[in-house]
Amino acid sequence: MVDPVRQEVISGASTVVIKVGTNVLADPTGQLDRHRIQSLADQLHRIRQSGRKVVLVTSGAIGAGVGKLGLGKRPTDLAHLQACAAVGQAALMQLYQESVAQYGIRTAQILLTASDFDNRARYLNARNTIGTLFEYGALPIINENDTVSVAEIKFGDNDHLAAMVTNLLRAPLLVLLTNVDGLYSDDPRTNPDAKLVATVPNIDQSVTGLAAATKSALGTGGMESKLKAARLVTVSGEAVIMANGSLDGILDRVFAAEPVGTLFLPHGADVPSRKRWFGFTARPKGVFRLDAGARQAVLDGKSLLPIGVTAVEGEFGKGDVVSLIDPEGTEVARGLSNYASTTAVRVCGLHTERIAALLGGVPYSELVHRDNLVVTG
Ligand code: GLU
Repeated sequence: MVDPVRQEVISGASTVVIKVGTNVLADPTGQLDRHRIQSLADQLHRIRQSGRKVVLVTSGAIGAGVGKLGLGKRPTDLAHLQACAAVGQAALMQLYQESVAQYGIRTAQILLTASDFDNRARYLNARNTIGTLFEYGALPIINENDTVSVAEIKFGDNDHLAAMVTNLLRAPLLVLLTNVDGLYSDDPRTNPDAKLVATVPNIDQSVTGLAAATKSALGTGGMESKLKAARLVTVSGEAVIMANGSLDGILDRVFAAEPVGTLFLPHGADVPSRKRWFGFTARPKGVFRLDAGARQAVLDGKSLLPIGVTAVEGEFGKGDVVSLIDPEGTEVARGLSNYASTTAVRVCGLHTERIAALLGGVPYSELVHRDNLVVTG
C-alpha cells in the first residue's frame, strides 16, 4: 500500500542522516555484528547511488571496546568507559571502512562533543567540513567524542547528537535505527493489542506518554530519548523515521517509502539555520522567567520586553543564548539576549523610562528581539 505522505518525505530527502544504535551493531558482550554492518553498508551505498547525500551517526564504540578488551560487560566508571570508547571507535571505523571499500567509498571520522555545538564558529566549521566531505564523495561517520566527554559537555546520547547533526545540515530526513519496530501504542510485550504507530503528525504529550509504555523494551530511556530527538528535528521542519535496524533490508524499504517503522512528520515552519542553532542546538547560558503577558507576546511572535521578565538566572554575556521560561516552569522559547546578565538583572520588570533613568539611556528596548527568538515549547 503506497502512502503518498511517506513518498513525499522520501522523495524530498536529498540529504539524510542515519543513526544506528549500539544494540543494532553489537551483541550484549560487545561483539560487532559483521553481517549487520555489511548489510548497512550495502544499503548506504544504494541510498547514495540514488543521488542522496548520506551522513552516518553511529554508536557502538563503547560496546565494541568492551568486546575488544574482553571485559564481558560494560564498565560503570567514566575513565573505563572512555577507554573502551577509544579502543572500540577504531574497531568500529575499521569495519565500516572494510564494508564500504568495495564500492570505492572513502569514510571520514568525525567525533563531536556538545560544546562544539555551543560555539557558533565550531558549529559552522563542522558544517563546512561535512559539506566538503560531500564534495569529495566521502561518507561522514559521526560519533560523540566519548574520550573527552564528561557530563557537562555531553550530548547525552547519540539520538540527540543525530538530531543536532540533522539540524546542522538542514537535512530533510533523520532515520533512527534501533532494535524495535517503531513507536507502539502500548508495551507490545505485555499488551498483545499494542499497535505500531505508522505516522505521528505532532510529538505532543499524548505521544511522549507512549514512551513510558515502551521504555523498558529499549533499556534506560531509549524511547524517551528518541522522541526528544525526533521532536528537535520535527519542530525545525524536518521528518524522522524510526525503524528496526536489526531487520535485513530495512533501509532499502524505508527509502522505497514502504510503510515500515514510525514516521514523524515535520510540524511548524521551516526554521532558518541561524535560529536552529540558538533555538535547538546551543545550550542556554541563562534563564528569563516570564510573566503570563510576556509568555503570550512571545508565542505571538513578538519581542521580549524587560517589563515582562520576573527574574533572570545564570551568568551570560550580551548575545548569549537564554531560555525563556513561563510561569508554570515550562520553556516556551530560546533567544539571544541583548543584555549581559549583570544588566538584565537590573532592567527586568522595568518600563523603558525607568531603564533610561537607571542606565542613562536605553541601548535596547527589548531584552530579546523577535528576530532572535525561536518558540520551542
Ligand atoms: N557514543 C556512544 C558509543 O559509541 C554511544 C552513545 C549512545 O548510544 O547513545 O558507544
